[in-house]
Amino acid sequence: MVTGATGQDGYLLTERLLDEGWKVHALVRRPEALEPLVQSREVSSTLEVHSVDLLEPAKLLDLVADIRPDELYNLAGCSSVSTSFTDPLGTWQTNAGSVALLLECVRTHSPHTRFYQASSSEMFGYVPGGNVVHNEDSRINPQSPYASAKAAAHLACSSYRKAYNLRISCGILFNHESRRRSNQFLSRKVVDHAQTLRRLSPAALRSYPPLAMGNLKAKRDWGFAPDYVGGILSIARQINVRSQHLGTRPDPDEGAYYRDYVLGTGRLHAVWQLVDRAFALSGFDLEWHLEGADPTEWGAHFGTTGLPAVVVDPALLRPADPIAIQADASRAREELGWTPRTGLDVFLQDMLKEHSRLAFLSEERK
Ligand code: NDP
Repeated sequence: MVTGATGQDGYLLTERLLDEGWKVHALVRRPEALEPLVQSREVSSTLEVHSVDLLEPAKLLDLVADIRPDELYNLAGCSSVSTSFTDPLGTWQTNAGSVALLLECVRTHSPHTRFYQASSSEMFGYVPGGNVVHNEDSRINPQSPYASAKAAAHLACSSYRKAYNLRISCGILFNHESRRRSNQFLSRKVVDHAQTLRRLSPAALRSYPPLAMGNLKAKRDWGFAPDYVGGILSIARQINVRSQHLGTRPDPDEGAYYRDYVLGTGRLHAVWQLVDRAFALSGFDLEWHLEGADPTEWGAHFGTTGLPAVVVDPALLRPADPIAIQADASRAREELGWTPRTGLDVFLQDMLKEHSRLAFLSEERK
């Protein structure tokens, strides 16, 4: 069972599970968003799509009780940190409340289920002068409604695992991107902007508004989503994966032997570097000015014309934003053999390739 199957990770994971030959129950609010998956392969008997909102407790409970899934991947959630500042209550209900409900469903109706919870690196927050590299034992210090709701869900998972010996694990994932990233996210906004510029005439390019960004110096650990989806599977199936990777006898398949894992590349890049690469891969060289302490003074102009290309919009500077968060994923590497690809180009190229494909298809339709 996969919640949030229309999202980036849920979609990629559903594809992977179908490829492995599993019967998948996809829980979605918008069944039509799974159409491309349904049409791309013969899945009529292996993919069952259930239209359900996580905020409908009775329906959710009935589904879990009825299906009693071997694996339940809870990937649904309000996933945007910025949106969580404008809708804190909705974020809490979806990201924390529905997890409490799912845990209770599993405990009462399906205790054999392997339950995977999508936790987030945002839970670690940032302390000026403090450590920015985080592993599974790092202090939780959320700084947004998104992060605090994820932290509550994370702790609820840990307490259910301990109290009831359930097969529960959390993946604490750092940012990961792909062609399936939605337009609420920075990487998508940047790639879409750069690709729009590519299609403009030189005259239109001169009058096109510059890309408006928040804190250009915030640093994140970005990776490529398909690698993380592989990691999610390994975390949920950790008893077997660990024993195979370490060459040891499997631990008993019970809650006491399940643990959480951090997934991230261990490499930091600043937001301005991501913008710079996306523009460069789209054929635009930028010249940056990043001096001084005032973020609204930072930005970039086009190397060729000198016109403004990137500006900081004060409205996009978040009230509290971790300046940097970086993964120490050594537990996942050593115990599960998880090794992600690194660098910005791997996911930027995937997003740009999708752009070229869509542009080609729309030309063909004309
Ligand atoms: P997306 O935003 O792409 O997908 C979120 C999914 O949740 C969508 O399918 C959305 O449905 C669904 N959803 C949201 N609210 C509800 C609701 N009330 N009822 C049912 N479904 C709902 O996120 P990702 O795939 O990128 O991330 C998956 C999970 O991992 C999320 O929980 C996210 O917070 C977490 N995470 C992601 C990271 C990342 O970098 N991608 C990093 C760390 C954690 P709809 O399509 O209808 O909107």
